[in-house]
Amino acid sequence: MVDAPDLYGLIGHPVAHSRSPLIHRLFAAQTGQDMSYVLLDADPAEFDDVVADFRNRGGKGLNVTVPHKEAAFRLSGPRTERARMAGAVNTLAWQDGDLLGDNTDGAGLVRDLQTNLGIRLEDATILVAGAGGAASGIIGPLLDCGAGCIVIANRTPERADTLVARFRSCPQLQSAPFPEVRGDFDLIINATSASLSGQVPPVPDTAVGPTTFCYDLMYSKDPTAFLAWAVARGARDSADGLGMLVEQAAESFLVWRGIRPATAPVLDEVRRSLS
Ligand code: NAP
Repeated sequence: MVDAPDLYGLIGHPVAHSRSPLIHRLFAAQTGQDMSYVLLDADPAEFDDVVADFRNRGGKGLNVTVPHKEAAFRLSGPRTERARMAGAVNTLAWQDGDLLGDNTDGAGLVRDLQTNLGIRLEDATILVAGAGGAASGIIGPLLDCGAGCIVIANRTPERADTLVARFRSCPQLQSAPFPEVRGDFDLIINATSASLSGQVPPVPDTAVGPTTFCYDLMYSKDPTAFLAWAVARGARDSADGLGMLVEQAAESFLVWRGIRPATAPVLDEVRRSLS
């Protein structure tokens, strides 16, 4: 009898638009891994049951996306240090009877910035717009890279204050309401979901200078509203979050299979699939 491929998947709501099945199919083909990857659309109320059912079907690991990252954090144990720092889990792996909770979003972003885009993070001045789940996942890894100063600005300022308070021993981190953001930055990261509705977070024009690199965690076929805004204000260069998506997936693949796939050819193919 031929063994069934090892089963992985993505749980979220909605998930139909996701590029993760394509990414993991390409990783599996490249590394010779016998695995399948399915999409699980689950309401928040169903999360625990859908995960348990997936495990009963032989599931070995899950990616987790909006709105379930906090629920996955709660369900998992043990958790990695980067998941604890984020307070959210985007990667679940059943290992030796335990449900490991990890967060690969920040590592994916850092790898895209440093390795793919050649951005220097050490001593960099960084503005992070947004204080939701994605922002929580990227602050720790950016600090670990030696960022000189990170300012978090959010539409609801209290959420930025709360996020900064989680890293209370860190003098490089501060919050500011958008209108009080001062100076230009080496890097501006849009970690809001504003681009989903074609909007731009209220980052002051003065935050962008001729040496500023602008990065939107969202990705799309055409430049996002934020990236178009940044280029119109003279930003040095810009990139969307497709590279982060592929890199965080590679990090999850490493957790599950113990192999890091090459990401460049996969990123090229996924980019082509957008058009
Ligand atoms: P979330 O937890 O729902 O947080 C949304 C954030 O966006 C909050 O800070 C919210 O501010 C802010 N926001 C929403 N609409 C806004 C607007 N019109 N103007 C200003 N701020 C606005 O979402 P998330 O999980 O952090 O995701 C954020 C984005 O990152 C999404 O576009 C998601 O697709 C993307 N993402 C990409 C990757 C990747 O691999 N590329 C990974 C993770 C996430 P308030 O607090 O005031 O509501």
